[in-house]
Amino acid sequence: MRSIAEDYELVAPGSLPEVLKLLAADPGAWTPIAGGTELMVQLGAGRLQARRLVSIWNLAELRGIVATDSSLRIGAACTYADLRKHPIVAAEFRLLARAAGWTGSIANQNRGTLGGNIVNGSPAADSSPALLVYGAEVELASVSGVRTVPYAAFHTGYKKTVLAAGELVSAIRLPRRFASYYQYSRKVGPRNAQAISKVALAAVGVVRNGVVDDVSIAVASMSPVPLRCAGTEHALLGHRLDGALIASARAALAAECAPLDDIRSTARYRAHVAGNLLEEFLRGLLAAGDTNP
Ligand SMILES: Cc1cc2nc3c(=O)[nH]c(=O)nc-3n(C[C@H](O)[C@H](O)[C@H](O)COP(=O)(O)OP(=O)(O)OC[C@H]3O[C@@H](n4cnc5c(N)ncnc54)[C@H](O)[C@@H]3O)c2cc1C
Repeated sequence: MRSIAEDYELVAPGSLPEVLKLLAADPGAWTPIAGGTELMVQLGAGRLQARRLVSIWNLAELRGIVATDSSLRIGAACTYADLRKHPIVAAEFRLLARAAGWTGSIANQNRGTLGGNIVNGSPAADSSPALLVYGAEVELASVSGVRTVPYAAFHTGYKKTVLAAGELVSAIRLPRRFASYYQYSRKVGPRNAQAISKVALAAVGVVRNGVVDDVSIAVASMSPVPLRCAGTEHALLGHRLDGALIASARAALAAECAPLDDIRSTARYRAHVAGNLLEEFLRGLLAAGDTNP
């Protein structure tokens, strides 16, 4: 059954300090709404339990992308369109730019935000594998100040995060050290656009003198949370990249993922395809040869 609009309250204080004050005054009572592309679907379906919504859409403090020599700070309310248009994202964080282009439709990309994507916490979220391989950090703001957590520690379980009542995601920070890395990502779904992934993999790496010098791998839709594949990385690091190593890496990936059977796919299909994607990344890395970051 559809929701009735009068049952909901929406306020738009217009500045970050005002929003944080409101969240602190009654912790847990207000739900932030950014682009609304998740929440409005729930509203339309009569499933939106949050009754009091505070808009953070277009807050200047959450919208900018600021670069220093060593990092890129992306405001949590930046949209996919903002990400796709940004020259540093496009040049250095190619997997994030690509994920932004994969997400939904153009309308969705104009409205959906990076902060909303990670707080929503879907294990199939398109931005998550890219953020994991780049070693992103998440800034959490409240009236008490800002704390920073590694994105790899942000999801604590299926659709659960470390966000406390009264906190907002204010920004996502990326270290600027991957521009010269070989970068790979692929999303496998029922079709090329407007699809939720059956499985997705993102990875970056560097080979020196034929040996894996640095590598970072993450998968979506392969466990209850988006997963950084530390065991697979460990199996690769410091070893000569050849067919035997690729086979060991496939085995390591299968050992650390726990895909499910669900309406979108089967565990068996997901495990096999994830192995294929890993192999495609590693063969590309091998062909790219030595790089000098
Ligand atoms: C048609 C359609 C297609 C889609 N396709 C894809 C796809 O291909 N890939 C994909 O990954 N997703 C997809 N999505 C999901 C959605 O668009 C994204 O997850 C989007 O990034 C959500 O951002 P939002 O700003 O719209 O979130 P909202 O709906 O505003 O909020 C989502 C959740 O996050 C919370 N929240 C938002 N911002 C913050 C913040 N800064 N701090 C704390 N909490 C916050 C809200 O309280 C809410 O719980 C699709 C959705 C639709 C409707």
